[in-house]
Amino acid sequence: MSHQASEGNLTAADLSLQKFSNGEDVASLADISPIGKIWDKHRANADKIAYYYSTSGENSFLNYAWRMRMCADLLEFQLLPEPTAGIFKLKLSNARFCRVRHCPVCQWRRSLMWKARAYKILPQVVADYPKYRWLFITLTVKNCQIQQLRETLHEMNKALKRLSELKAWPAKGWIKSIEVTKGKDGISAHPHLHILAMVQPSYFTHGYISHAKWVALWQKCLPKILGLKPRSFRTAFYLSIWFIFHSSDR
Ligand SMILES: [Zn+2]
Repeated sequence: MSHQASEGNLTAADLSLQKFSNGEDVASLADISPIGKIWDKHRANADKIAYYYSTSGENSFLNYAWRMRMCADLLEFQLLPEPTAGIFKLKLSNARFCRVRHCPVCQWRRSLMWKARAYKILPQVVADYPKYRWLFITLTVKNCQIQQLRETLHEMNKALKRLSELKAWPAKGWIKSIEVTKGKDGISAHPHLHILAMVQPSYFTHGYISHAKWVALWQKCLPKILGLKPRSFRTAFYLSIWFIFHSSDR
């Protein structure tokens, strides 16, 4: 792929017209490996976001668009043998990523990294605390407008910090991840926090927190942060919590 325009001279029109080279004589990654379809999906989403940035009229966003268009445009893989004789696996050995915060490719790669870290740590934690139990908690607030998302996430994180400082907070340790999906109306944002929490072995017999109690605790932490009047609070926020628990003896 050649680029005659320098980064500084690139215009929105250049960006919207540029296509990634996908010559008919070149086999696509998806033809070779199933992982290619995953790359294609995230790469296509990155193109969409880059296009929106390119048409924003903001120079800084134009720069984002340029970086995202170049993100992962060339991937180098190594063909590594699997333990099974005669089976080979593609392993990414070199790529250039844009590191733009909202790039779907880079976010996907980040999520893989964090997942790998968690998978590496958790077996050791389970080995060190074999009797402890696990909760999967999801904390949400009412969908917000996309312009309010930054502030909403900020306040949710502060609320979680408050929640974790309460005497009733049962977790000895936890992993948190933030997820934002699109609301059913297609335009609002649905932010939520997923928490994998390790609790005392006695949690389900002593100190168990019911769903209603979790709701009350979360509500207790949110309004103080958001400064909402008590009357408006009930209609402004709701909470969903699901528990999935397991231990080594199940
Ligand atoms: Zn990227």
